[in-house]
Amino acid sequence: MTTGERLGIFGGTFDPPHVGHLVAAINVRHALGLDRVLLTVANVPWQKVGSRPLSAAEDRLAMVEAAVADVEGLEASGREIARGGESYTVDTLEELLREDPSRQLFVIVGQDAAAGMPTWERCDDVRELATLVVVERPGMASELPAGWAFQRVQVPRLEISSTELRDRVADGRPLDYLVPRGAIECLRARRLYREPCP
Ligand code: ATP
Ligand code: MG
Repeated sequence: MTTGERLGIFGGTFDPPHVGHLVAAINVRHALGLDRVLLTVANVPWQKVGSRPLSAAEDRLAMVEAAVADVEGLEASGREIARGGESYTVDTLEELLREDPSRQLFVIVGQDAAAGMPTWERCDDVRELATLVVVERPGMASELPAGWAFQRVQVPRLEISSTELRDRVADGRPLDYLVPRGAIECLRARRLYREPCP
């Protein structure tokens, strides 16, 4: 009997991507024997809009592409950008299953994102269509939603966030070993994050 592709979906704003994202994705892929993990770049991360200026979706996708270029099993996905509008994970899952109904989907989230999942669009359908996988995230106190079934995967705890990295660029501190080299080159070439956040 053939079983379908085991596919991880790791969504985010990735503004910029960092080694916390990569270490989580690589280790979940390994622990659960996933064929691929798609780092899925949100077009409009509707929960973040208005809270701060966001980099253009194309810039964020280019950084993720550079970050995963030489990482086996990790891929950048621009499908939410191609779809346009606000990005809902449920639409992405349905699209992936329409393309290949034999796929088994795994939605990967850090613990802070997991806490917010009850606010996601059609969250019951997300739970139905995919196995939910949560990784710990140091420095972010958050409770998992009560009564939700998550599979936990232990990954090295890296206290890194895109927010802190944007501040680092703005005040000239190094990004080395926190952001993959290709993504650093990409964000420099595109002159991102040079102004301090308001
Ligand atoms: P920001 O500070 O702008 O919110 P971020 O570092 O939280 O950025 P996101 O793009 O918001 O990155 O996160 C995408 C996904 O990656 C979320 O599920 C988040 O919980 C997870 N994640 C981000 N950083 C880490 C980390 N250091 N360890 C584990 N998971 C992480
Ligand atoms: Mg975040």
